[in-house]
Amino acid sequence: MFDKQANKKFSEKSLIFKRIKKRKCKLCSNKMNIVDYKDVEFLKNYITERGKIIPRRVNGNCAKHQRIITKAIKKAREVGFLPFQVE
Ligand SMILES: [Zn+2]
Repeated sequence: MFDKQANKKFSEKSLIFKRIKKRKCKLCSNKMNIVDYKDVEFLKNYITERGKIIPRRVNGNCAKHQRIITKAIKKAREVGFLPFQVE
């Protein structure tokens, strides 16, 4: 009984993990090399509800584009388009 439950939990977790891991770099597929910090709707895809930047291993971006997005988000935060932290 206990083993079954443990297995169920594990499979659920791995399913979620797979779903997240399947994402590919959207910027590469769209051939975007410049991200506008004023494009809040786009940048919102890469931050959590609390305002944190989603790590590369989760959102599936490549290193180059993750750097570009991170810079854009930080710039947008300074200007005030995006929150630093949502309580
Ligand atoms: Zn990319």
